[in-house]
Amino acid sequence: MEPIYKRVLLKISGEALAGDQKFGISDETTNTVAKQIKELCDLGVETAIVVGGGNFWRGRSSENMDRATADYMGMLATVMNALALESALNIHGVKARVQTAIEMREIAEPYARMKAISRLERKEVVIFGAGTGNPFFSTDTTAALRAAEMDAEVILLAKNVDAVYSDDPEINPNAEKYDSLTFKEVVDKDLKVMDLTAATLCRDNGIAIHVFGVAGEGNIMKAVCGEKIGTIIK
Ligand code: UDP
Repeated sequence: MEPIYKRVLLKISGEALAGDQKFGISDETTNTVAKQIKELCDLGVETAIVVGGGNFWRGRSSENMDRATADYMGMLATVMNALALESALNIHGVKARVQTAIEMREIAEPYARMKAISRLERKEVVIFGAGTGNPFFSTDTTAALRAAEMDAEVILLAKNVDAVYSDDPEINPNAEKYDSLTFKEVVDKDLKVMDLTAATLCRDNGIAIHVFGVAGEGNIMKAVCGEKIGTIIK
């Protein structure tokens, strides 16, 4: 298998690490994801990762909490996932380092763009935790931002669904599955691929998005080698 990309940004949602249990971190799923990332590294693909936090916490305002605080808690949740993935990758013999957008030097490096790039050039995996460090953003926006900063060619969006559909396929069995889309179509059709801030950032910086299911055996590899799985947005 020949990779078609030199440097990729892999976005893994929190739920993708939770597996069937839907909450927390599933050892089995984390192990499967780590093995797939190792395969990419063995092919020489430079891999940066952004992890979500939805398996622990999602920011939303409530009677007892303002939105910014809830969002900061969400960012802390992403750090737990980042550390779990870092550990799993290191155990699989892949050198991986977490960089966080909120400083917590005892457990991870603070985000530093040039340091992250030099780690990628040395074929180390860099995992970005704590989102952008700012409330009112998402980890999808983080993925778009870090992909632009790292000069990645594509965002590999590993999801719990296997592609982009016209409607929720679990609710509507007639939902249409898309092989490819333009950014304009995503916006016009109001497709829930990623939030608009993230999609606009990708469009403006010429970064493609490849959406596919994380569950399928070898799917990350297939996406990197240009196989026709999921949906490509350009
Ligand atoms: N978050 C934030 N700023 C960021 C990234 C994330 O405030 O730059 C918070 C936000 O509350 C979000 C939570 O972290 O709901 C977890 O991230 P996300 O929902 O994107 O995770 P995913 O759905 O990918 O698991």
